[in-house]
Formats: sequence, C-alpha cells, structure tokens
Amino acid sequence: MPNVTIEYVILIPLLFTQVIVFPYVAATMASSWQNSQRNIELQDAADHLVSTIQQLYLTINSENILVGTVTHKSPLPITISSYPYNATGLLSDPADNSAKVLTVTLTLDELGNTATASAVLGSNVTWIPSTLRSNSTDALIIVDIQNDFLPGGNLAVPNGDQIIPVMNDYMTLFREKKLPIFVTRDWHPEEHCSFKNHGGIWPSHCVAGTKGADFPDTLDLSHEIDIISKATSPEKEAYSGLEGTDLDKKLKILNVNRVWIGGLATDYCVINTVLDFISLEYKVNLLIDGIRAVNVNPDDGQNAEREMITLGARPVTRNDIS
Ligand SMILES: [Zn+2]
Repeated sequence: MPNVTIEYVILIPLLFTQVIVFPYVAATMASSWQNSQRNIELQDAADHLVSTIQQLYLTINSENILVGTVTHKSPLPITISSYPYNATGLLSDPADNSAKVLTVTLTLDELGNTATASAVLGSNVTWIPSTLRSNSTDALIIVDIQNDFLPGGNLAVPNGDQIIPVMNDYMTLFREKKLPIFVTRDWHPEEHCSFKNHGGIWPSHCVAGTKGADFPDTLDLSHEIDIISKATSPEKEAYSGLEGTDLDKKLKILNVNRVWIGGLATDYCVINTVLDFISLEYKVNLLIDGIRAVNVNPDDGQNAEREMITLGARPVTRNDIS
C-alpha cells in the first residue's frame, strides 16, 4: 500500500502541475517578455521619431514642424509593426520665450503600450497639431460627395444621396481602425473650362466657396479628415483625385499601398481616380455599394465598373469587411 499512497499523493499532483501549470507559466513569461520587448522597440521608435524631428528642425530651421514628413523614415521593428500606433505631440511654450520642448507620445492602440520622447527645439518653432499614424497600409478615399452632385444640385447624380449612409459607415470603420480618410472635391473657379459657358460639357457646378461645392450636412465629416481639392484652375479639368493634387504624396508618407474608393460619380471621377491609383501600383478596393453613376448613356456606370474590375480593382461591399 505505501507505493499506492506515494503514487496518488505525490506523483499525480506533480504530473498535473507539470502538464497544466508549466505551460501556463511558460505562456505568461513569454507574453510578458514579448510585451517588454514591445516597450523597448516602441521607445526606440519614439526616440528615433523625435530625433528626426529635431534634426529636421536644425537642418532646415523649419519653423513649422510638419509631422507627416518624418513619420516613416525608418521601418518599425517587427514586434510592433503590425499594430497601429498613434503619436501625439505636445510643445511646451515657456513664458520667457526660451527654447521649446517637444514631447511626443507613441501609443500602440490595441495593446495600450506607450512611450514618450522629447527634443529641445528653438523658441520660434510651432507645432501643427496633428495625429501621427502608423505604417497603416490602408486608406479610405471618398470621391466628390458634394451638394451639386446630389439630387437637387446643378449636376445631380441620380440616387447619389443613397451612398451617404454607406460611406458614413465606411468612415466609422476606418476611424475605429485609426486609418486615414481622404475626401476629394471638385473646387472650380467660376470660369472653369468644364462649364458649358466656357466651352465645356457640364453645367456650372462645385464653384469654390459656394453651397454647391460644400459637402452635404449628412456626410459625417466631424472627425479628422484630409480634404483634397481638384480642378482648381480655370484651364484644367481633373476627374481624378490624383490629378494635380498632393494625394499620392500624402499617401506615400503614410505608407499606404491599398485604397478603398467610393463616391461620385462611378463613370467620371470614381473611374478616373481608380485607374490612376492602379497605374501608380496601389491595390484598389472598389466600394460597389458606395458609388453611383451619372449614366449619360444608360450603361455608362456598368461599363465603368466592368472596366475598373478588369484592370485590377477588387469589388467589395461593407458586408465583406469585418
Ligand atoms: Zn467638375
């Protein structure tokens, strides 16, 4: 009987401990090691970012720190690169006009890790409030949802208003994921060449500063977005949001290589924007529930969709994305 006692009282609990507890302890240790590694790497990234800003400031004596220009000079280390981060900058403003100190805080959104780094800048520097974004690969591009392109507007796209709630929904999704959103707009001078009375084919529309050029109140632009104005000079037409704008440059700074595009109108500004993105070798997801066509000819919209997809755009709807 003593053997049995030893077996049940000592060996089985020992076996249980080894099988159940050891993997748990090992997993906890591994995850805490990984987390401390992330903290170190995030701190390195913060230090690097701040020293780059400082160097940039000293080199070109820039009085305005444009945060976007220094965000992605070096790739993030592997253990944090797959997590979106946000960075906020705070510039101390001493009353005696002495040098200002910039403090940048980096946060990994999903994990909550933070790191802070500081740099001394000159007394004349100003910080342009902005949110630094991580090396996110995706951006939402909303094309020309403006009053003149909606029912009642000067160049109304039939049922154009139906896509507003859909695009609001996409915006909510992108905001939740801390991904950038760009909104393009026609922003014409009064004498724009696309207008009939100036030799063009369209009625006057989206004249800069008018109600027709405004975004509709129902489009939820209450959060941080970047507005891209196009076709702003009298002699140049631009259907594409990339034509004559800095949209490509801004996306490259953010390391974006995949765009999700919806808006108005399928057969003009959407298709031209999509094809330009494809020719610049971006991956393009076409939000087919977030576009509507003018249909000067009845099949224009359908043909445009087919052409975009044939040339490489991937059709997606809101239900395809979690
Ligand atoms: Zn126009």
